[in-house]
Amino acid sequence: MIDNLPPLREVIAAHELSAKKQLGQNFLLDLNLTHKIARQAGDLTGCDVLEVGPGPGGLTRGLLACGARHVLAIEKDPRALPALEQIAAAYPGRLTVITGDALAIDPLAHLTPPIRIAANLPYNVGTELLIRWLTPRDWPPFWQSLTLMFQKEVAERIVAKPGSKAYGRLALLAQWRAEARIVMTLPPEAFTPAPKVHSAVVHLTALPEPRFPADPAVLTQVTSAGFNQRRKMLRASLRGLHPQIEGLLEGAGIPPTARAEEIELERFCTLARALKAAREA
Ligand code: SAM
Repeated sequence: MIDNLPPLREVIAAHELSAKKQLGQNFLLDLNLTHKIARQAGDLTGCDVLEVGPGPGGLTRGLLACGARHVLAIEKDPRALPALEQIAAAYPGRLTVITGDALAIDPLAHLTPPIRIAANLPYNVGTELLIRWLTPRDWPPFWQSLTLMFQKEVAERIVAKPGSKAYGRLALLAQWRAEARIVMTLPPEAFTPAPKVHSAVVHLTALPEPRFPADPAVLTQVTSAGFNQRRKMLRASLRGLHPQIEGLLEGAGIPPTARAEEIELERFCTLARALKAAREA
C-alpha cells in the first residue's frame, strides 16, 4: 500500500476510464510497480515533477508517495480528471492538473526548479517530447532528469553505442548532452491493455554542458546527412555539406570510407567544429 486511495482497477471502473487506443492508453495498474518507476526518477524530495499523460494516476501516486514537492500533470483525456482530483485531495497543494495536449502546453510557468520529468506516454508523443527536451535553445535545460517509458526498441536506440544497428541520431542527441541508461524493462502484461511489444524505462540526467563542444545546428546537419544514408560511406553521404569534405573527415580522424554507424560521438563533434570553421574561413 503506497497510499490510502482506492486500487486503480476500482478508480478506472468508478470513472469509466476504459482505455482508448487513439490516445495510446496502456495503463499501469500495479501501484508497487508505479512506485518502483517513480523511485528511478531519483530523489524527488524538494523537486517539482512534470508528469505527462498521468491517465488514472498510477505513476502520479508513485511520484507523490516518493515525496515529490509538487507534481504538475498534463493529461489530454478529460475523463481522467475526476480520478486525478481525488489524488489532489489526498495530497493537498501538491498536485496540479492541466487538461490538454502536452505538445501544445508550456509547463514552465507552473514549475519551480529543481525540476524532474517523469512519464509513461504514447511512444510517438514521448519521442517528440524527448527530442524537444534535448534541444532547448540554451543548455543546461530547465529539467535535471527525465524518466520516460518507451517501447524497448526505442529505449535501445537512445542508449545505443557505435557499431550497433540501434545506433543513430537519437543516441547521439541523447548522449551528447545527457547521461542515458535503461533502468527497467517491462513485459507487455505489465500494462492494461497489454501492448504488442516490451517496454523499457530510460533515465536521462542532464549534463552541465555538452560532452564535447559543437554547434548544435551543424552537429544535426552532420548526423542527419550521415544517418539518412547510413549504408553509404561518409565521403558520399556528407558530400553536400562542403566541397572539401574528405579533407575535413580526415582532419577529424574519420576515414572517409567509414559509415556513420561506426563513428563515435566525439568524432562527430570534432567534424562539426571543423565544418563550421571551414565554412566561416
Ligand atoms: N501514466 C498512466 C499510466 O502509467 O498508467 C497512463 C499511461 S498511457 C500509456 C498514456 C497517457 O497519456 C494516457 O492517459 C493518454 O490519455 C495521455 N496522452 C496521450 N497523448 C497525450 C498528449 N499529447 N498530451 C498529454 N497526455 C497525453
